Amino acid sequence: MTVHLTTPVSELWKVGKVTAERLKNLGIETVLDLLLYYPFRYDDFSQTVAIKDLRPDMAVTVKGEITHIANKKSPRKRTSITEATVQDDIGDTISCVWFNQPYLTQNIPPGTQIALSGTPEFGYHNTLQFTSPQYEKIFSQKSIHTGRLVPIYGSTSNLTQKQIRFLIQTAMEAVSEITEWIPEKTRKDFKLIGRQEALKEIHFPTDTPSLQQAEQRLKFEELFLLQLRSQHIRNQSQKRAAKKILFHEKEIKKFVTSLPFELTQDQRKSSWTIIQDCEKETPMNRLLEGDVGSGKTVVAALAMLNCALSNAQAVLMAPTEIVARQHFQSFTELLSNKKSSDVPIALLTRSEHRLSVKNKAFTKQEVIDAIGDGTAKIIIGTHALIQESVSFSDIRLTIIDEQHRFGVDQRKTLKNKTDGIPPHFLSMTATPIPRSLALTVYGDLDISVIKEMPKDRKPVITSVVHPGDQNTTYEFIRANTKNGKQTFVICPLIEESDTLGVTSATQEYEKLSKEIFPEYTVGLLHGKLKPIDKQKIQEKFASGVIDILVATSVVEVGVNVPNATIMMIEGSERFGLSQLHQFRGRVGRGKDQSHCFLLTESYSPETKNRLQALVQTHNGFELSQIDLEQRGPGDLYGNRQSGLPTLRIASLTDTHLIEQTQKAAQQLFKQDPTLRKFKKLKNLLEEFEKKVHLE
Ligand code: ADP
Ligand code: MG
Repeated sequence: MTVHLTTPVSELWKVGKVTAERLKNLGIETVLDLLLYYPFRYDDFSQTVAIKDLRPDMAVTVKGEITHIANKKSPRKRTSITEATVQDDIGDTISCVWFNQPYLTQNIPPGTQIALSGTPEFGYHNTLQFTSPQYEKIFSQKSIHTGRLVPIYGSTSNLTQKQIRFLIQTAMEAVSEITEWIPEKTRKDFKLIGRQEALKEIHFPTDTPSLQQAEQRLKFEELFLLQLRSQHIRNQSQKRAAKKILFHEKEIKKFVTSLPFELTQDQRKSSWTIIQDCEKETPMNRLLEGDVGSGKTVVAALAMLNCALSNAQAVLMAPTEIVARQHFQSFTELLSNKKSSDVPIALLTRSEHRLSVKNKAFTKQEVIDAIGDGTAKIIIGTHALIQESVSFSDIRLTIIDEQHRFGVDQRKTLKNKTDGIPPHFLSMTATPIPRSLALTVYGDLDISVIKEMPKDRKPVITSVVHPGDQNTTYEFIRANTKNGKQTFVICPLIEESDTLGVTSATQEYEKLSKEIFPEYTVGLLHGKLKPIDKQKIQEKFASGVIDILVATSVVEVGVNVPNATIMMIEGSERFGLSQLHQFRGRVGRGKDQSHCFLLTESYSPETKNRLQALVQTHNGFELSQIDLEQRGPGDLYGNRQSGLPTLRIASLTDTHLIEQTQKAAQQLFKQDPTLRKFKKLKNLLEEFEKKVHLE
C-alpha cells in the first residue's frame, strides 16, 4: 500500500481499532499528523562501543548476537524475568534483563543479530549488565530504536515508544509529498533547511548538528506563521479608514494641570503616542501595559476626554462591575476638576446605570437613550454594553481594560456596534508580559509600556509566613487596624469544584471574624454573591466600614482603596508570581508604608525560591519572565482562558527567534502586501485563520 499524507492512520499496517483510538487521543488521525508529532527529547545512543569498553552510567549502543535467552519467574512469581547473553564480534559478552516481556524468547531467539541501547550498570557478581535496554534486530536497513539519537515522544496515551517510532517511520514514506511554504529568500536569509529534510531529521536525526538545524527550521516555521497572521491582521486593519480625533491641545493641557498629581514621564509618553495614533485616519491598535497602580486610568481618561471634545463617543469596557464603577467614579472626579466644559459620562452595567449630569437620577432606559443619541460622550461599563438593546451614536475610541478577560468575539461585537467604521482601539493590561510573549500574543498591536511608578509610592514590604509565625502576622494586622488602616485577605481556590472560591473564603472569613479579630469588622467577597451585594461590600470597604476584607482570587481585579495597607495571601504557593504581584498591587497606593504577607504551608525549596523572588523584586516584568520560564505561559494569566497559542516545538521564551520571525514577516508583507506571489503561504494562512482563534 502506498502511504500518502492524507492516509488515515487506521489504514496503516498494524493499526487496529485500539491503536487508532489511542492515536486519536494524541490528535493523530492522518499520516501528516504523525509527521507533525515531534519528539520532545532524544536519547543519545549514537555511540556504539565494544563490550569490553563499556563503562557504568554511560549511554551507549552495543551490537552482537544473542547466545542465550530464557525466562524465569521472580521469587514471588509475579514478574516474569527474561535473561539473555549477548556476545560481540570480539567475543566478549554482557547479560541483559527485561521484565514482563516473556515473548522476547520468541522474538529474539539465540542467533539473532541485535543492537542494544541503554546505560549499563553493575548487577549481581559486580559485573556490568543492561536492565531493560532498548533492543532492535539488525537488518541491513537503518536502525530506529538503537545506535543513534533515539527520539522520545511525549504523552503517549498507552502507546509504546517503539510503536510510535515504527508508525512514524512508516509515515516517512509520504514525506516527499510535504511541500515547502517558506519563501526561498526567507529561507536563505535565515539559513533554514527545507521542510522535508527538517521533518526527517526531527524524528530520526543523523547527528546533533542536523537535529539542531531541523529544530531551528521547525521552530521558525511555527513562530513565523503566528507572526504572519499578526501582520496580516494588522495589514487588514490598516486598510480600513477610521475617523480621526483631533488633538484638543489647550483643553487637554488644562486637564493635565488640573490633576491632583503630576503625570509620570511614562504616562506622558503613552498619552502622547495615543493622541497621535488617534489623529490618524487609520485605526489605532495599541496595547497599554503597566503594572498595577502605575496609573493607566488617567491615560485612558485623557484619551477619552480628547475624543469627547471632538463631540464623538469614547467607550471603556471593564471586566467586572466593581471595576467599571470605580472607573466611573475616578473619571467623574478627574474630569470635574477640569472646570471647563462638562462632559457627560455614562455608566452601564447589569445592575447599575448612571449619567453624570445635573446630579439627577436616571432610569436605565434614559441612560441607554443618552448613549444611543450621543448625549453621553464618555461611556463606561461591562459586557452589558455589548447587549443588543444598547446602541451608540458615534464611537471613535474603544478602550478595553484587562483585555485578556474578554474573548475575541466580545471585542468583535463591540467593534460591530460602530457601523463598519472601526474605532481607534486601546487595550490595557496590568499583566506585565515578557517582550517575547507580547510579540507573539499581541503581535498585531503596537505596544506602550508604563514602567515607572508614581513618585510617592513606597515599595510594599513583602514577607513569607509559615504557620508557626502566623500569630505575629495577626498581631501586626491588629495593630494596623487599630490605627485605622485596612487589610485585604486573598484565598485560593482549593477544591476544583469550588470554582467561585466560596468554600475557602467562607472558612477563612469564619476564622478571622470569630476567632482572630472578633473586635473588628470583617467582610466577605466571593463570586457567588449577587452583584448588588458585592457592590455593597465593596463600598463598605472603600468607605472604611469594613476593616478586613476576605476575598477570593476570582474577584481580585482593579479595586482601588488607598487606605488598605496590608495584603495577606493564603496558600500563596498556589498562585503564579504575576498573579501574586497583582494582588500585592492592591496595597501601596497611598503614602503609607504597606505590607504583603505570603502565607504558605509548603517548605519545598521550589516554593521558597519562587516566593523569595517576590520578596526581592517589585518589577512585574521580571516576575512574569520568571513565571514564564518556570511554569509556562498559562500561569501569567491566573486560571482564566487566555488565548495563548499552542506551540508544538517552539517556546514562548525563544525571544530571539520570535524577533527574527517578526522581522521576516514584516519584510514579506512589505514586499508583497497581498501575498500574491506567495500562494501557498497565503492558503496556509487562511487555513490557519479558520482553525485557530488567537486573542
Ligand atoms: P492602574 O494602572 O492599576 O489602573 P490606576 O490608574 O488605578 O492604576 O492608578 C492608581 C492610583 O494612582 C490612583 O489612585 C491614581 O489616582 C494614582 N495616580 C495615577 N497617576 C499618578 C501619578 N502620576 N502620581 C501620583 N498618583 C497617581
Ligand atoms: Mg486599572
